[in-house]
Amino acid sequence: MELKKDTLCVQAGYSPKTGESRIPQICQSTTFFFGDTQAMADCFDLKSDAYFYSRLANPTVTALEGKVSALEGGKAAIGCASGMSATMLTAFTLCEAGDNIVSSASVYGGTFNLFGTTLPKLGIECRFFDPDATAEEIESLIDEKTKFIFGETIANPSIVVFDFDKVAEIAKKHGVLLIIDNTLASPALCNPFKFGANVIVHSSSKYLDGHAAALGGVIVDGGNFDFKGNPRYPAFNLPDESYHGLVYANLDAPFATKCRAQMIRDLGAIMAPQNAFLTYLGTDTLALRMERHSKNSAKVAAFLASHPKIAWVKHASLPNDPYHERANKYLPNGQGGMMSFGIDGDLSLCAKFMESLNVITQETHVADCRSCILHPASTTHRQLSKEDLEKAGVPENLIRLSVGIEDADDLIADLEQALARI
Ligand SMILES: *Cc1c(COP(=O)(O)O)cnc(C)c1O
Repeated sequence: MELKKDTLCVQAGYSPKTGESRIPQICQSTTFFFGDTQAMADCFDLKSDAYFYSRLANPTVTALEGKVSALEGGKAAIGCASGMSATMLTAFTLCEAGDNIVSSASVYGGTFNLFGTTLPKLGIECRFFDPDATAEEIESLIDEKTKFIFGETIANPSIVVFDFDKVAEIAKKHGVLLIIDNTLASPALCNPFKFGANVIVHSSSKYLDGHAAALGGVIVDGGNFDFKGNPRYPAFNLPDESYHGLVYANLDAPFATKCRAQMIRDLGAIMAPQNAFLTYLGTDTLALRMERHSKNSAKVAAFLASHPKIAWVKHASLPNDPYHERANKYLPNGQGGMMSFGIDGDLSLCAKFMESLNVITQETHVADCRSCILHPASTTHRQLSKEDLEKAGVPENLIRLSVGIEDADDLIADLEQALARI
């Protein structure tokens, strides 16, 4: 029986046997007991899935991995130390020096830096495309060394909704993986595997945790990409000499197996049991929370769009938003809590507005149960000139708002009184 999201949120990933704890325990142990040598040897041959060292797998982390994988409809998942490490490990599972990545330019700032600055230092090039680029423009960036195409379901902070149909078709045509960062939609609102993605990455520090309690990331393998005989991926088709000649393409979840057996083994960056436990608890209410985040943000967006002191609002729930139609297709049950809007005024007016808020608080974080707000031009982007801000798509008057699960009327009243002060 295929269970619905609300059921998976509270049931998937862990099923205790008689007398065992109802929810996963925090398995705070680096290492595991073995009675005989052969049992341990089997682990190193990937013939046994017994736990032996928490850098490779840990029962608490397994519970969370199972739940996120079930929610995404994937084959296997890997809990990572952070969202950034999930993306980093994903890139290293596929790329080596001389390879390249083709990525939407509308991605999270940390990802933009990883792809644009850090990976090039290791000989991995990134070719960015405008989210509104044509299929021909995107295709012109792909060559035989391209290992994956990357984008975000809902981009942070531009709130662009990814054009799955267009990009998935290109990926398919060229036999290249499509990797999607699904952080801001969460598996409750969108399942990218249904729209052609092959691997999904999450920053679980956001909606999956939902309480701003634990940093983490999750990689999910859709198990839906045929590596076998694909000349683009020799590392999946040739024996891995660091793993007794294992050929990943022959396995059920080639990507996740290579990522864990090779990259987690060599690079670490695994999720801590304590963080997996907190995130597991958070995901119990994911579907419920995403419903409220989406309802609240639609109400707040409509309020802001009708306010005379607001120049513009970006949220896909608004009928005139450029991504409204796309959101109807890929995010039919809600568009999540992230939005941005522009105050009709200059830097000082924006600052005055921010200081006047009482319920909504200033934070650099997004996507947890409490509403939070940021004015990039006076904080994260304060080094940039007015012209550079425009170029970065972050105009001086842009305010980023992450709508929480409070009562929407309280949020609107707070915004209204702050706007009355400017
Ligand atoms: C926050 C975020 C990340 C990075 O995640 P961390 O857990 O902070 O490392 C990656 N992608 C998106 C879309 C994010 O919002």
